[in-house]
Amino acid sequence: MTDQLIIFDTTLRDGEQSPGASMTRDEKLRIARQLERLKVDVIEAGFAASSNGDFESVQAIARAIKDSTICSLARANDRDIARAAEALKDANRARIHTFIATSALHMEKKLRMTPDQVLEQARQSVRFARNLIADIEFSPEDGYRSDPDFLCRVIETVIAEGATTINVPDTVGYAIPELYGAFIKNLRERVPNSDKAVWSVHCHNDLGMAVANSLAGVKLGGARQIECTINGLGERAGNCSLEEVVMAIKTRKDYFGLDVNIDALHIVAASRMVSQTTGFVVQPNKAVVGANAFAHASGIHQDGVLKARDTYEIMRAEDVGWSANKIVLGKLSGRNAFKQRLHELGVELDSEAAINTAFAAFKELADRKSEIFDEDILALVTEQDAHQQADPFQFISLAQQSETGERPHASVVFSRDGREIKAQSDGNGPVDASFKAIESEVKSGAEMLLYSVNAISGSTESQGEVTVRLQRSGRVVNGVGADPDIVVASAKAYLSALNKLHSNAEIVAAQG
Ligand SMILES: [Zn+2]
Repeated sequence: MTDQLIIFDTTLRDGEQSPGASMTRDEKLRIARQLERLKVDVIEAGFAASSNGDFESVQAIARAIKDSTICSLARANDRDIARAAEALKDANRARIHTFIATSALHMEKKLRMTPDQVLEQARQSVRFARNLIADIEFSPEDGYRSDPDFLCRVIETVIAEGATTINVPDTVGYAIPELYGAFIKNLRERVPNSDKAVWSVHCHNDLGMAVANSLAGVKLGGARQIECTINGLGERAGNCSLEEVVMAIKTRKDYFGLDVNIDALHIVAASRMVSQTTGFVVQPNKAVVGANAFAHASGIHQDGVLKARDTYEIMRAEDVGWSANKIVLGKLSGRNAFKQRLHELGVELDSEAAINTAFAAFKELADRKSEIFDEDILALVTEQDAHQQADPFQFISLAQQSETGERPHASVVFSRDGREIKAQSDGNGPVDASFKAIESEVKSGAEMLLYSVNAISGSTESQGEVTVRLQRSGRVVNGVGADPDIVVASAKAYLSALNKLHSNAEIVAAQG
């Protein structure tokens, strides 16, 4: 048993399965780069066989990321596995993660297969996968609710066929820490060849215990891999949250006695990137990455912290990448200072041209806003990313009138494939009027699922960060926009969402 705990991040696969959290290939690539900076051991980049879009994302990430192992999910069949292997062809280190359900309920109702058929399919699939790639992870889906005797047979079989990681998912979030830990321990003791594989835990948060269950699987069960997502993103109540398990292992090393490779300094930037990209905001009281996670409001606490930090603090905010509301740059800051700050924030832009574009946007913002915070810089870069030059719709300008008792009116100027369009409309409010103006020309027919505004650094002087989620023909996209004027930020976010709707990515198939 090693003292190293493997961190397997599935933000881009399990996290993305959360309705409304779908990401484009470029967004996934950007998050993958941040995960690499975090020194995540394994990045589950997607489910290559589920759609061409997912295949391309896995392939792009496999080509770009050098330090982390890149993994694709695959159902236990030859087609899925071959597709995963093909997408991973150029990876430095590749893993196939194949799964089949083993609980009586799932086998009978979902797969309509007998246990013996499931066992045989698991065996064949791992054998097939092992001939393509050496690093094979196997998951018995709904493992925690499966019959332990049957589960032992399946696991022994797949290890004999060459599976190198055995992951035991609590697919429905039903487990309790002690029981889950004991469950893993029991399996490891009973499976004769259990020492030939690394054991892994994958917990969902339906009862708020995903992190506790994962840690119990490690401490009591002897697992040495945790599957998790940034911000705990995921279907329903989400997955085990990366920042929480990692900081638990680091802060309580006295108890766990384990090492993780994660460079915690990049945690907050990763959290912000994922919430900005998906529009899933982080609650203020969320451990580690919530805005209040390190704020001491009570007078008694403040006094204690001022006298000696460890009276009330068990972690240091700066160790996870918080540099809360520090004024970093202003109007007079030069290109080098800007570039240096980007580097410190963990943002690596691809080219000098990209830095120039970001710097121009920064200067423009600094003209309107005297204090530029880290959060502003991150929003600006995210926005630059979202508004690629190649995108058909580009924001140009906006004017709006609103007055008590009058119906608000907006005029929006934007371009479509380089052609300038002037649109206007009235609406229930200035934002509504801007969206109706754009829609009057574009006629996308999309349905709006979400509109959210967030003040980037907490005050009315800060930039507004807007997320617009649109749906058309079953396809869901998120657009983001940032600006000190929230009506402008909103129009930018709307156009960003339209750009994504118009991109060629196909509809993502329902994932099993
Ligand atoms: Zn899951």
